[in-house]
Amino acid sequence: MLIVLRAGQPEHLRLVRTACTYGGARPWFLCPGCGSRRTKLFEVGDRFVGRTCGRLVYQSQQERPGDRLALRAKRLAARIGGGGVLPNTLTGKPPRMHWRTYALIEQRAAAAWAASVEARQAEIVRRCAGLGRTLRDLPPAGDQ
Ligand SMILES: [Zn+2]
Repeated sequence: MLIVLRAGQPEHLRLVRTACTYGGARPWFLCPGCGSRRTKLFEVGDRFVGRTCGRLVYQSQQERPGDRLALRAKRLAARIGGGGVLPNTLTGKPPRMHWRTYALIEQRAAAAWAASVEARQAEIVRRCAGLGRTLRDLPPAGDQ
């Protein structure tokens, strides 16, 4: 039993241990919601629960299509002086970097950015299809 204080009130969390293959024991929380073993509990509303009971999702599950590619493009752009901004606003080759390296990173950043835009467009098309609309029915960019 682990007792934690929440807003000054004690909350009892049950702990269990399971034997490890090569000796020792591993501690687990028992989720107050479903009783399953959990390595982590999260504060959701007025209690601690496991990820499933809290209906929490991993960050990767919240991302839109293309987000990872856009992040990759920004990271690559940052390596070649883009300051993390988009590939088409690069400021130039950093000192002491080979031109060949610069060109390779620039090429990869541009490819990642293009792929992220494509993924976003595909997602928009997919959603429009679900709504029975087309891209022409949408307001121009910036009007939203
Ligand atoms: Zn649970």
